[in-house]
Amino acid sequence: MDKLKAPVFHIIHGSFVDGFGIRTTVFLKGCPLKCIWCCNPEGQAFDPELKVSAAKCDGCGRCVPVCPVGAITLTTQPDTVLTVDRSVCTNCLACKEACYTGALECFGEYYTVDELFAVLKKDELFYRSSGGGVTIGGGEATWYPEFTLALVRKCKENYIHTAIDTCGYVTSPDGIKALEEADLLLYDVKGINEEDHIKHTGVSNKPILENLKRLSAIGKPIFIRVPVIPGYTDSEETLNEIAGFLAQLKSVQRVDIMAVHEYGKVKYEQLGKEYLLNVEPIAPERQEKIKELFESYGLTTQLGG
Ligand code: SF4
Ligand code: SF4
Repeated sequence: MDKLKAPVFHIIHGSFVDGFGIRTTVFLKGCPLKCIWCCNPEGQAFDPELKVSAAKCDGCGRCVPVCPVGAITLTTQPDTVLTVDRSVCTNCLACKEACYTGALECFGEYYTVDELFAVLKKDELFYRSSGGGVTIGGGEATWYPEFTLALVRKCKENYIHTAIDTCGYVTSPDGIKALEEADLLLYDVKGINEEDHIKHTGVSNKPILENLKRLSAIGKPIFIRVPVIPGYTDSEETLNEIAGFLAQLKSVQRVDIMAVHEYGKVKYEQLGKEYLLNVEPIAPERQEKIKELFESYGLTTQLGG
């Protein structure tokens, strides 16, 4: 088991929003979807990536000579300006080792199952006292099927509750097994219309909806997460289609309405990526109306995760 590795880009200790009780949530790097509204762009690519926080640079210049491809430009007069040319950067991460200010860091660090479990086990007291546990998300947790399955099993052997936060686009047998064996699923549904789904996320929703139907049929406890993005997923037609689909499933315990936010914007800058979403926040009254729409289908619904 110890040979299995996956890149982790974030660990949140003490989360209250990723399942029951107090949880530790781990985010695995890499996702088969490319949602236009993604708020974790550092979770999209599979390998560790350079994170640039130019405002933290003190202009020491240590990073410039270590870059093998000359991707780093630094000026110090009149102000310190650090730039990385992402078109030539190979993500070798040599510059990160040279930087002591946090201007150059990395999204993603490889863990074995045992190494990650050792981190998760430290919070065991919080799980036990609150009815919480471990949540594995991403990116897409099941994109490392053997790793995620082994981690779920290791937690369960130790009587730690497990949840997987998934986009549902899971085709590998071990990925499916991980979903089946986790105690709870946090499952994204981003639309029922396949054409729109491909346009917004880059993939068909067929496997997502088929997996969801199958997991519900075996009685797996599921919280559904519906991203509500103006101009993309917020039309009455789209929301009614989603609610109508969910109402037929027998093990959906709750629907979480995830209104658009811009918390991820700074991470696009740190990755040198363009932030393409340009929408207004959804007014609280409109969010309430959306909640009522889902409730009208008999679905227990809340705003936020
Ligand atoms: S990650 Fe490597 S290639 Fe990219 S800027 Fe740093 S040293 Fe250069
Ligand atoms: S090593 Fe860090 S602080 Fe020094 S110039 Fe490079 S980015 Fe700036």
